[in-house]
Amino acid sequence: MTLCIYFAAPAVWDEYCELLPALLAEAGIAAEVVTEVRDPAAVDYIIYAPSAPLQDFTPFVNCKAVLSLWAGVERIVGNATLTQPLCRMVDTGLTEGMVEWVVGHALRHHLGMDRHIVNPGHVWDPTCPPLARERVVAMLGMGALGTACAEALAALRFQVLGWSRSPKAVAGVECLHGDAGLEAALRRADIVVTLLPKTPETENLLDARRIGWMKPGAVILNPGRGPLIEDAALLAALDAGALGHATLDVFRIEPLPADHPFWTHPRVTVTPHIAADTRPRGAAKVLVENIRRGEAGEALLHLVDRARGY
Ligand code: NAP
Repeated sequence: MTLCIYFAAPAVWDEYCELLPALLAEAGIAAEVVTEVRDPAAVDYIIYAPSAPLQDFTPFVNCKAVLSLWAGVERIVGNATLTQPLCRMVDTGLTEGMVEWVVGHALRHHLGMDRHIVNPGHVWDPTCPPLARERVVAMLGMGALGTACAEALAALRFQVLGWSRSPKAVAGVECLHGDAGLEAALRRADIVVTLLPKTPETENLLDARRIGWMKPGAVILNPGRGPLIEDAALLAALDAGALGHATLDVFRIEPLPADHPFWTHPRVTVTPHIAADTRPRGAAKVLVENIRRGEAGEALLHLVDRARGY
């Protein structure tokens, strides 16, 4: 009997405790999914949210993998007690949610929707926005989420630049990498989307110097992680009118403190970390596929590279 323990949000346990046993049985795996265990050495798999109180993995001596329900693993990747393989979450619900958030907010700025939604003077200004094909979007991060967003924007005919650590080829996207690639992307883009993981290399990636490379009036969308952008540098560029707007979903401190200037800045839109959520229905299938692979001795999906930090 394979034993899985769930250390994640109690609010969605009811859903997982229905979905997982049914899917495990369908996959032909005799397994039990529990939230408490007397003998940690008996646990085969840990289903885990990095917000869970469990931080010491030492007692789980026979655990074959820790399966994160989150895509971002910066809170757990450096945990020295975690010696087991760590898998992050990649699922269609997360991806579709992120595509909708990014495309929605990109279109808001591209079309200048605010001009018509908030028009207290009832000004009749028939200026048409440019077409998407005349607008450049830079996607910083071309992983599971960034690539899906880049493809969706390219399908709308935006000129999409993708930037990642390693070179890539994605149809309809001009792929760049390295420092020179970042500078080219920032200098050319009207809209910059940051969909990178938080690692020592990506922290403060958008600092005053790199924000200074951006086009006058350019817009930033950050659904990645708060520390990717230096808050003070962003606020200074917005105050000076160098940047047009920042739409931010993630922050250094969450919930965003009530007195943080982002809340009241006229050029900032705050969304409360809702860009993409892990939905149990899709995520349970990914968990079960990895448990099946683990039991069959096959390679696990979405393994985190501890040295890279993502
Ligand atoms: P992923 O598949 O691991 O992709 C990460 C991308 O970032 C890859 O393209 C990687 O390059 C690139 N990258 C990492 N370090 C880099 C560096 N130093 N320089 C240049 N490129 C670098 O991750 P994902 O699934 O797309 O998720 C991305 C992030 O989104 C997560 O880590 C999380 O922080 C965030 N997220 C936010 C929400 C939300 O609701 N706001 C929800 C889910 C996830 P390579 O391809 O070369 O490795």
